[in-house]
Amino acid sequence: MHDDRRARVRAAGGFAGNGVLRVRVCERCVLPETFPGVGLDGTGICRFCRSYKPERAEAAKEKYLRRFEELLAPRRRAGRYDAIMAYSGGKDSTYTLLALKRRYQLSVLAVTLDNGFISPVAIENIRVVVERLGCDHLFFKPRFDLLQKIFSRAIDEQMFSAKTLERASTICTSCMAIVKFVVLRMAVEGRIPFVVYGWSPGQAPIEASVFRHNPAMLRSMQKALQDPLAAAAGPEVGDYFLTEEHFADPGGFPYSVSPLAFLEYDEERIVEEIQRLGWRRPTDTDPNSTNCLLNAFANQVHKDRFHFNPYAFELAKLVREGHLAREEALARLATSENPEIVAQVRRRLLDK
Ligand SMILES: [Zn+2]
Repeated sequence: MHDDRRARVRAAGGFAGNGVLRVRVCERCVLPETFPGVGLDGTGICRFCRSYKPERAEAAKEKYLRRFEELLAPRRRAGRYDAIMAYSGGKDSTYTLLALKRRYQLSVLAVTLDNGFISPVAIENIRVVVERLGCDHLFFKPRFDLLQKIFSRAIDEQMFSAKTLERASTICTSCMAIVKFVVLRMAVEGRIPFVVYGWSPGQAPIEASVFRHNPAMLRSMQKALQDPLAAAAGPEVGDYFLTEEHFADPGGFPYSVSPLAFLEYDEERIVEEIQRLGWRRPTDTDPNSTNCLLNAFANQVHKDRFHFNPYAFELAKLVREGHLAREEALARLATSENPEIVAQVRRRLLDK
């Protein structure tokens, strides 16, 4: 292993406490004053809460739900699969898969990207859920040596645009880039009309919940993600992205859908429903992830550098829109990462 990578991994272990400072938080949602551009006013309300209009949000949900259903009708059973889904095994993607199968009766290929840090309970959940729902499933495991280089680089380098830091840790963004394009590539090659993600309504803006991928937009999105990954791990990362051959075939570009942005979303109810499928809540992950051990480490690194939790934006939006109790969100954001998991991840990133 390169010395600079070793140093980075070590540095990430040197936290004082949980990296969370005592800060003022929006009185209505949970965004802290350390969040970029939060704009807390004299009454302690953030700019996102000031501009939020519940009636507009409801109308938008209906509009996108209709749009998805209209697009779906003529494309059912047009090929082997109606949809390919990025299935992490977490609660949101499990509930999304349940909706695709039970509400829409789609033929789904569920794909799990094994980043080397999936919780053992999550792996068991994945097996149980795909069996119960009767859908085809693939574990896709990219080269771990490449992932190690990427995740180690993401510890202390920004890698992507400053905007991405407001929504997720750099480690999460780099992992999601691979997930997104691996699944997209399979959709293009397999002529699957829909690529589905299990983003919560806090992660997926409603305006982006249903859209057709167009080659020009994809090309620039891919460049913004692929170039930093290639700088960290070499040109081999190109194997997980689209090639000129894919771009030359614009007929094959699928729609992107994030159903939880427009379906009913209530966390407690979601967990109850998926537990009926045999899903169990992992006890070895941090409170913001129900599948990934790397997440605790990624959160710790992010909080230490930027002094806000990378889940703050998502949880604030869930609270603002009435999907999650404010107390629950505050408790989750205040939870320290499990030092054993953080240490375990660090050891695995150091492993040759
Ligand atoms: Zn707020």
